[in-house]
Amino acid sequence: MTRTWIAGGVMGFLGAILITVVLDVGHGFGDSGAVVEHNGRLVKEHELNLIAANAAKKALEEKGLYHVFLLQKRPYGLEASGSKLCFSDLVVSIHHNNFWNPEVNGSEVFYYDKKNRDMAAGFSRKIATGLQIKNRGAKLGNIAILRGIHGCTKAVLTEGYFMGSGDIKDHHKWSERYGLLLADAIHESLWKHNHKSL
Ligand SMILES: [Zn+2]
Repeated sequence: MTRTWIAGGVMGFLGAILITVVLDVGHGFGDSGAVVEHNGRLVKEHELNLIAANAAKKALEEKGLYHVFLLQKRPYGLEASGSKLCFSDLVVSIHHNNFWNPEVNGSEVFYYDKKNRDMAAGFSRKIATGLQIKNRGAKLGNIAILRGIHGCTKAVLTEGYFMGSGDIKDHHKWSERYGLLLADAIHESLWKHNHKSL
């Protein structure tokens, strides 16, 4: 098969099998999430979550197979309630971790529905390998956003790396890389495994 043929084949499917992904940007609207001091400046988790989410959105959209929505906190409690997210094929809530000890780093991914455990493990492995940090793996998490959409769509919460880690020279680059690795992991999980013939 030539590349052209493959591209033509994929384009032929378009419209019928566009995959919808919701990227929930963790925290926001007065809630910074974790905050660390880095080179004399404060770095806020919400800002890094947004960098990772935007990088993932762009990378997925460039594949031409995905509708990607960023979910951001709104004032007056208009946060996504469970049922509103059920239209999507996957919800990923994007976060960064933090701990006081700069020697601690690693990726971990939470699931609530056991059916999402393998996907969570794959996401954590992909991020850890790409960032060259410890893979802390998939963890069961009783987390509101995951609980709220339990049973209606796939969902995980990703903690890409530890913001307080001494490994990090440039948070912007790390978070962007995290987003790109997440896009790869999503693509592998949603597309490649279901469309092996491509
Ligand atoms: Zn967070």
